[in-house]
Amino acid sequence: MIGRHRALALFLVAVALAPLVLPAFYVTLLNYIGLATLVALGLVLLTGVAGVVSFGQQAFVGLAAYATAALTVPMGLSPWLGLVAGLALTAAFALVLGAITLRLSGHYLSISTIAWGIALYYLFGNLPELGQYSGIDNLPPVAVAGFALESGRESYYLIWLVTAAALLAARNLLDSRTGRAIRALRFRGVMAESFGVDTAALKLLVFLYAALLAGLSGWLYAHFLRFVSPHAFGVNAGIDYLFMAVIGGASQVWGALIGASVLTVLKEWLKDLLPALFQKSGNYEIVVFGVLMTLLLHRTRDGLAPAFARLLPAGSTRARPPDAPALPRRTQPARGQPLLQLRGVQKRFGGLLAVNDMAFAMNSGEILGLIGPNGAGKSTLFNLVTGVLAADAGEIRFLGEPIERATQREIARRGIARTFQHVNLVSTMSVIENVAIGTHLRGAKGSLAAMLHADRDEERLLLAEAARQLDRVGLGEHLYEPAGSLPLGQQRIVEIARALCADPVLLLMDEPAAGLRYGEKQALAALLRKLRDEGMSILLVEHDMEFVMGLVDRLVVMDFGEKLAEGLPAEIQANPAVLEAYLGGIE
Ligand code: ADP
Ligand code: MG
Repeated sequence: MIGRHRALALFLVAVALAPLVLPAFYVTLLNYIGLATLVALGLVLLTGVAGVVSFGQQAFVGLAAYATAALTVPMGLSPWLGLVAGLALTAAFALVLGAITLRLSGHYLSISTIAWGIALYYLFGNLPELGQYSGIDNLPPVAVAGFALESGRESYYLIWLVTAAALLAARNLLDSRTGRAIRALRFRGVMAESFGVDTAALKLLVFLYAALLAGLSGWLYAHFLRFVSPHAFGVNAGIDYLFMAVIGGASQVWGALIGASVLTVLKEWLKDLLPALFQKSGNYEIVVFGVLMTLLLHRTRDGLAPAFARLLPAGSTRARPPDAPALPRRTQPARGQPLLQLRGVQKRFGGLLAVNDMAFAMNSGEILGLIGPNGAGKSTLFNLVTGVLAADAGEIRFLGEPIERATQREIARRGIARTFQHVNLVSTMSVIENVAIGTHLRGAKGSLAAMLHADRDEERLLLAEAARQLDRVGLGEHLYEPAGSLPLGQQRIVEIARALCADPVLLLMDEPAAGLRYGEKQALAALLRKLRDEGMSILLVEHDMEFVMGLVDRLVVMDFGEKLAEGLPAEIQANPAVLEAYLGGIE
């Protein structure tokens, strides 16, 4: 069996030799595949990973293609200036469009992508300066170091160099601090914000990248074909690109390459085959295409990439990240300092007063238990303290400063980290990657550094920290398992490790012991005590009485959104009102 590296080397040799041995027709086909791969790659990031469905990528391809055509043909400027202008125009357009449409939720965004696609198609087709529907021809070839890339064979090398670099950069990006945050965008936005990720800005960034990749493709296309017309940038092209991303495997970088190849070849093939079959000409391929797509997606939700991956030799199993110096830590407040104070806190959901006039205070270094029957408002209170929800009234102070108006990100930065009652992990990501999200605010490297692999030093620190925290909670054996494959109880512990990675002052845990076995609960209690001994302050929502009573310093009891009692565990245990409400009168 050959190794992955050798397989890759063989593949690269084949790519380099292809235009020398293949007939021109196939070289052209390969060029189209490379161009489509770029656009599909943007969609893998945008749609597959970040969850934003766009039918309008062809508009960005067209913008850059027309920009370079309009500059190089009538004005005689260099294609390289056309590239700069094309990308600048694409970026400006994407930023404005993204700022407006990314706010729209769900289907509205996708519909708006169709709308802008159609609008640009007609704009290209109607402007006399752009040649209307007959387009612009006679574009100059791109010249590299004085050598003009006139033929398809020559363009091939430029197209595939750019495509390969884009694939590599995208892979590096996803495997980084920013990449982990991007991968959390789709289903775990609230969680990402709670660790300091600016999800709105990140979505816009991914949207921008996707647009720039499409723009790059448009520029290459225009100078390879030496001709632009609106027809290549119609809505159907946008749908094709989306198909490519989905068929290939929308959440995998290589899926873009696979999807673009399969679709481009299939289309070419059906275009010849079908008219011969039906003895008539017509766009039958679109119909056959639709059916094939449906069947394929029915069979495999993840696209073709996983099937292709199985054909490859197995990669080596990943070793533990090498140990690295600890990240700098924040100064913890002295034990016994006022830490968190709530006064008159209220939250209403329509007619339901979920939290009403809640007040309590906790000092640093203590474990405060928050208990109460289901629906008492405990999780809502957590969401108020962490900024997921805004309180309707009342005051929340953390380390003496008001935080009731602060965003999740600001609160995270001040040192509050949390776990969620409903486990909030990215299930397809490995355990260590999930936990590393907790270190987000302790790193600074952005997407550009990630793409160029210039973030490796910092990355080593962040991953070593994640591994250390996983060791600390006893999950050091599971670093590279997909988080979703662990039993639910262990997933909760993963959440604790992630919160610890934020180096918090105050740890909020929403039912961490739910789903744990007896022994695991003992271990968790021991861990929490150890954390407290190290100076950590913990606010804990828990159902399991036995677990809480032996662990916490004080208890606050909630019922129907209000505070029912507050005191030492022994006092609470003897409080008749608590027994009545919480235990339903059970002895
Ligand atoms: P607990 O965590 O104590 O079990 P919650 O804080 O989850 O309770 O819920 C308190 C009450 O608020 C419940 O009646 C719940 O149905 C309601 N509630 C919680 N979140 C929302 C929401 N986003 N919209 C409407 N009602 C909600
Ligand atoms: Mg709850």
